[in-house]
This record gives sequence, C-alpha cells and structure tokens, in this order.
Amino acid sequence: MIPAAFDYEVAGSVEEAIELLGSREDPKLLAGGHSLIPAMKLRIARPGTLVDIGRLSELSYVREDGDTIAIGSLTRHHDVATSELLAKQCPILSSSAAEIGDPQVRHFGTIGGSVSHGDPASDMPGVLLTLDAEFVIVGPGGERTVPAADFFTGVFETALGEQDVLKEIRVPPTSGGWAYLKFARRKQDWATVAVAAVASNGGAKVGLVSMGGTPLRAKGVEEAIAGGADPAAAAEEDRIGHCFASSSLVATSWCRVSEPIAIVSPSSRT
Ligand SMILES: Cc1cc2nc3c(=O)[nH]c(=O)nc-3n(C[C@H](O)[C@H](O)[C@H](O)COP(=O)(O)OP(=O)(O)OC[C@H]3O[C@@H](n4cnc5c(N)ncnc54)[C@H](O)[C@@H]3O)c2cc1C
Repeated sequence: MIPAAFDYEVAGSVEEAIELLGSREDPKLLAGGHSLIPAMKLRIARPGTLVDIGRLSELSYVREDGDTIAIGSLTRHHDVATSELLAKQCPILSSSAAEIGDPQVRHFGTIGGSVSHGDPASDMPGVLLTLDAEFVIVGPGGERTVPAADFFTGVFETALGEQDVLKEIRVPPTSGGWAYLKFARRKQDWATVAVAAVASNGGAKVGLVSMGGTPLRAKGVEEAIAGGADPAAAAEEDRIGHCFASSSLVATSWCRVSEPIAIVSPSSRT
C-alpha cells in the first residue's frame, strides 16, 4: 500500500498545468486524490509526476451561465450536494452527489475528478450523461466542448487527451420529476447498479450506472415511455437497454439487469 516514487508539482493555473503535462514524464493531474491516490497505493497507477491542480480555486463554482448551470471541475462533491442553485434548478445532481461515499470523500473528491476518472460505477458520470451535460476541456490546442454522449469512451477511458484539463461541466436546468435510485452493498459505497431518470418533453431521460463499461442511456426505455408505456413495463420489455452488464465480485449479470427493473417498479418510484 505504498505508492511507487513520483515527482510532485503544484500548478498555479490551468495554463501551467497544461505546460507541466507536456513537459514531464508520465504526468497525471491530481485533483481531490480520492481515486488516484488509492490506485497509486495499489500500484495500478504509477505516474512519474503528479501535477496538483487541487488549489485552483477559480475552478470551484456553481453558477448560472445563460440557459445552463456551469460547474467548475474542481467543485467538491459536498459543494455540489449543498448548492442551493442546483437544489432548485437541477436537484438530481445535488441529490446524487450527496450519495457519494462519506463526508470525507465528499469534501475531497471533485466532480471533475469523478468524470475524468471514468469509473462506470461512479455516480456523477451516469447522472451527467442522463442530463445531456457538456464538458469544457482545455488543452494545448485551446478549448473545446464535448457532449456527455461522446465523453465516456470505455472503462476508465474518456475523451480527455494526455495534455487536457477538464475545466467546466454544463448542465441544463430541469423542471419536471426526477429520481436517482442507487443499489449498493453498503450505504457509503459505489453503485452495484443505479438508475437516473429525468422528466423531459413529456417523456423521460433514463441513465444507468454500473451496467456496462461506460454509463449508459436506456434508449429503448426512453422511446417506450415517450410512446406512453408505463416505466416499469418499458424497463421489463427492453431488459434495460440491451446492456452488456457483466458479472463481478459484487453482482451477477442477472442481478445487474434485474435490479434496475425492480428499481423502476411503481412501488419504489418517487
Ligand atoms: C472510500 C471511498 C468511497 C467512494 N465512494 C464513491 C461513491 O459512492 N460514488 C462515487 O461516484 N465515487 C466514490 N468515490 C470516488 C470519489 O468520488 C472520487 O473522489 C472521485 O471519483 C475522483 O475525484 P478526485 O477529485 O478525488 O480525483 P483524483 O483522484 O484526483 O483524480 C482522478 C483521475 O481524474 C484525473 N483528473 C482529475 N481532475 C481532472 C481534471 N480537472 N481534468 C482532467 N483530468 C482530471 C486525474 O488525473 C486522475 O486520473 C469514493 C472514493 C473513496 C476513496
């Protein structure tokens, strides 16, 4: 449980972080450290240099920006969970952030670190995919915006390049019903499975956590609900998006496919 040797740099700005990422051997950004440090202790990750962006307070905010809500990538889970703006205008995000880990994890871990890590069992990636969020990325070539549907590319893989810094996440305000229902072995744990749902244009957007190599949208369920089907019947009929849920130490693939159907049954819907 002792990491391999590494160098350590503190970036004073996003620009300096990008420069350090381009000039150091095997560099990795460090935000809250609550995914990267455990991986380093297990020697799954062996960065040559840690580039610490955790002190860039200008990347920590939740604010209205035109018709979206902008969230700085270094905003801690606690600040997402307790944001009054999000509680009013995008409650699924603040509410699901409150379900991440324990208070220590929520006070260190950042929303940007969570999505950049690309763990399909994490809460934020699935909720942000359901919301059709956008990710603002800064790299050596300038700034670009990537839709959530293109951001998560594989298990622990994202659209971020080696010299990229995720700067901001943009979500649309929501006005209708929503639910985030997480099934975990222990209260303060990653999801064995979870389902996110947001009412949208007379239908619903439905996202799945820990059901595949990336967060998924249950498109078949969304189409059935838009066509007037009952959500539980739509989920049963579609077997939750024909996903490729695999067996693991914590759940069989049968459990991973069946549990979301149970989650959206009328007795447990909010
Ligand atoms: C005990 C425990 C319980 C947990 N429970 C849950 C849970 O229930 N649900 C859940 O979703 N998560 C859980 N987590 C994970 C937690 O939410 C992490 O904090 C989060 O996933 C990573 O955020 P971080 O800021 O700590 O990122 P770090 O660990 O610092 O970084 C993670 C990765 O993202 C990269 N990165 C970080 N920031 C940026 C950026 N701005 N731009 C580009 N790349 C970046 C890093 O280089 C690294 O590869 C838990 C963690 C622990 C230790």
